[in-house]
Order: sequence, then structure tokens, then C-alpha cells
Amino acid sequence: MNDENKDAPVAVVTGGSRGIGRAIAVALAKQGWNICFSYMSNENAAAETSAQVKAAGGRVLAVQADIANRADIKRLFEASTQAFGRLDALVNNAGVVGEPRSILDADDAHLTAVFRTNVLGSFFCTSEAARLMSTQKGGHGGTIVNMSSAAARHGGMPNEAHYAASKGAMDSFSVALAKELAPHGIRVNAVRPGLINTEIHEAHGGQELINRIGPTVPIGRAGTAAEVAEVVAFLCGPLSSYMLGTLVDVSGGR
Ligand code: NAP
Repeated sequence: MNDENKDAPVAVVTGGSRGIGRAIAVALAKQGWNICFSYMSNENAAAETSAQVKAAGGRVLAVQADIANRADIKRLFEASTQAFGRLDALVNNAGVVGEPRSILDADDAHLTAVFRTNVLGSFFCTSEAARLMSTQKGGHGGTIVNMSSAAARHGGMPNEAHYAASKGAMDSFSVALAKELAPHGIRVNAVRPGLINTEIHEAHGGQELINRIGPTVPIGRAGTAAEVAEVVAFLCGPLSSYMLGTLVDVSGGR
């Protein structure tokens, strides 16, 4: 880390090594934020995000942490606090699709893995962040952005009820949390991306799926990670000061 921007706001972005999370880290850095991001296992990708955040002018800390593991989550926030000494925003971005599976073949381990990462991880990250940011606990307030999905309302791809339901949970979580945390000086909103061109689609068809579904989106194409990131950065910052409990679609009309 360089020593510049010591007084800049700090965001924790989960799953920041690739895709939408990386784009969020870079978009926030361009707006003057310092970034602590987590990744699961891809060290090369994490190094690339760190380089891009630094190039955008931000200080950066990459932390390997499995968002499905509560001890890892505690370690992530301890590392961020130690490095930066403050927290101003949390982006609950890390998520997985899980392999497509019919409900006729519902499986405990499969469901648990998806919900632990997509839902429980966000609950526990929020708990850690809210304790640090709460004005009732001596903090100075902040913002939380939850990564939902348009799948929460249209049901997603075939045989992915597990994923759609996990994102539906993120919608309900965001609305409830917004009311609970407003008295703590913390604004909560959610973003619901549509079909965005990232590696997450390797789980169910990859680029072939993007090429096939993209033209059916009303706007005529898949979106980019940067197009989602700009909205997330807006929700993290002061320009969205009267937005609370909002579910923002970034889905090209799908
Ligand atoms: P992605 O390209 O697959 O990137 C996933 C990121 O999450 C990576 O940084 C990965 O780390 C990290 N990650 C995965 N599992 C993790 C875990 N258990 N603990 C910590 N980090 C973990 O995905 P994406 O497309 O950017 O998606 C980001 C979010 O947007 C997800 O919540 C997803 O559901 C949501 N979303 C995406 C789309 C879309 O079309 N792409 C649409 C709607 C919503 P490693 O690099 O170490 O593997």
C-alpha cells in the first residue's frame, strides 16, 4: 500500500478479484476510495485487481477469505481495520451460481454451498460492518450495497431455482436491513444486475450462453461489469443520500 489518501473513505468489497467485484473496486478507487477486497482462491486475479485499484489512485488490501466461513469473515474485517482504521462502505458482492440442478434432484450440500456464500456470508459481513459503522456504537455511519440479481424476480436460468431463491433472499434482506440500520446512520440498498458478461456464466454455458441470451435482452446485448459498478459506486457515495431500501435493476430491461 502507498501512504497517500490516508483520509479517504474505505470500502470492503467481497469477491473483488474478478468480474463485477473488480469493476466495483476500480470504480470506487477512481472516485477517491481506498479498497479492501476479498477473494476466494484466485491470487493472480487478486493481484490484477490490486494493480488496477492502485493505478486508479486508491490504496488497496487484498484478503483471501471464504465468505461462506464466518471465521474468515472476521479475519477480513480485522485486516481491513488494521490496514485502514475506518470503514465507510460494504459491498456484499461475492456470489456463486452453483451447478444447474433440477429441484427433483435437490441436494443438501449443493443448496447449503450456494446459500452459505450468497446469503449467510452477506448476513455475517453485514454484521461485522454494521458494528464498525453504527453511529450508536461510536462509528460515523456508512453505506451497504447488496448484490442481488434480476433472477430474484424472473427466476433465472433453467434449473437454477437455488440461485434465484438466494437472490430473492438478498432482496428481502436489503429491504429489512435498510429499516433496521437507518437509525444507525447506515444506508442499505441493493443492485439487481441482469445478464452481465463475466466468468460466473462458466457454470452454465459460458460465452455461448452470453451470445445466445444477449440479443434477447430488450437493450440488445449483455451488460458489462463496469456498467454495474458505476451504479454500485453511486449507491456507496453521497450522491445517493436519500436512497434507502431500494432495489436498483441494472438489467437492460430484462
Ligand atoms: P465472478 O466473475 O464469478 O466473480 C466472483 C467473485 O467472487 C470472484 O472474485 C471470486 O473469487 C469471489 N468468490 C466466489 N466465491 C467466493 C467465496 N465463497 N468467498 C469469497 N469470494 C468468493 O462473478 P460475477 O459475475 O462478478 O458476480 C458477482 C456478483 O454479482 C455475484 O453475487 C453474482 O451472483 C451477481 N450477479 C452476477 C450477474 C452476472 O450476470 N454476471 C448477474 C446478476 C448478479 P476468486 O476469484 O478467488 O474465485
